[in-house]
Amino acid sequence: MRSARTGLIALLSVSTLALAACSGGGDDAVEAEETTGGGTASEAPADFPEGSTMAALAEEGSITIGTKFDQPLFGLRGPDGTPTGFDVEIGKIIAGKLGIAEDDIEWVETVSANREPFIQSGQVDIVIATYTINDTRKEVVSFAGPYYEAGQSILTLTENEDIQGPDDLAGKRVCTVSGSTPEANLIENYPEAEVQALQAYSDCIEPLRNGQVDAISTDNVILAGFAAQNPDLEVRGEPFTEEPYGIGLALDDTDFRMWINDVLEESFEDGSWEQAWTETAGTVLPTPEPPAVDRY
Ligand code: GLU
Repeated sequence: MRSARTGLIALLSVSTLALAACSGGGDDAVEAEETTGGGTASEAPADFPEGSTMAALAEEGSITIGTKFDQPLFGLRGPDGTPTGFDVEIGKIIAGKLGIAEDDIEWVETVSANREPFIQSGQVDIVIATYTINDTRKEVVSFAGPYYEAGQSILTLTENEDIQGPDDLAGKRVCTVSGSTPEANLIENYPEAEVQALQAYSDCIEPLRNGQVDAISTDNVILAGFAAQNPDLEVRGEPFTEEPYGIGLALDDTDFRMWINDVLEESFEDGSWEQAWTETAGTVLPTPEPPAVDRY
C-alpha cells in the first residue's frame, strides 16, 4: 500500500517538475504549486528527519489508522462508511500535522484482540481505539499518550438494581471482549463472575437485552455511549480501574512516539483536543482536563 502510493507520488512529483520546467517558471512555478494546495498534503511541514516514519507518511500523503467501528462517542462507523468519535478526531489531528488531509486517512476496524497484531504486521500505521496503555502490551507495541483516562465500569438493564458495583458480579454472567483489559481484570480479580468474552462490545447488547447475560463490563466512556443511545441501559457505580488511552504504534519507533506526544501536547495547548472532545464524547460526557503525556 505504502510503496504503491509512494510510487504514484514520485510520478506526480516528476510531472510537476516537468510542468514547471516547461512553463519556464522555474522555482516560482514550483512554489506556486506548493501554496495552492489548500489543506492538502502539499502543505506538509517539510522538515521531518530523513528515514523517520513521519517523513515516510508525509511523503506518502496517507496514513492507515485502526479504530473501533462500533463504539458511540469514540469510534462509530456511520452510514457513509467513515467513523466518527473522539478517537477519530485525535487521528485527524495527527494526520493533519503530517500534512495528510482527512480524505486521505484510511480507517481500518480494529477490535480489541487484533490491535497488537495489526500494528505488528504493519496493517495499520497507528491504532487509536480506546486502547489502554499497559506493560504487557508495551512488550509488543509502543504507545504515545495518554490523551484520555477512562476506567472500567458496568452496564446493566435500567430495571436491574441488583448490580451496583464489581463486587455484585459474583455468580453473574458478564459480557466483555476478548483481548481487552476489562476481560483480564475480571478473570484475575473477580473470579466468581462468569465472563463471556465476545469480539466487540456492541455484540454484548442483545445478549443483555434478552437475558443471556446480566451485565456488560468495559470502560465507563464506552458504556456511557451505549447508555446514551439506549434508555433501557444504565451505567452502574464508579470506575474501578485506570485505563489511560494511548496511541499504539510499532515497537521502539521512538521518534514517531515522541513526535505524536509533541502533537498531543500541542493539541492540549491550542484547544484542538478540547474541540475534538466537545464535538464528540463531550455531547454526553463532561470535559476532562487533558492528562500528562508519559514520555517513557
Ligand atoms: N481500554 C480497554 C482496553 O484497551 C477496554 C476497551 C477496549 O477493549 O477497547 O482493552
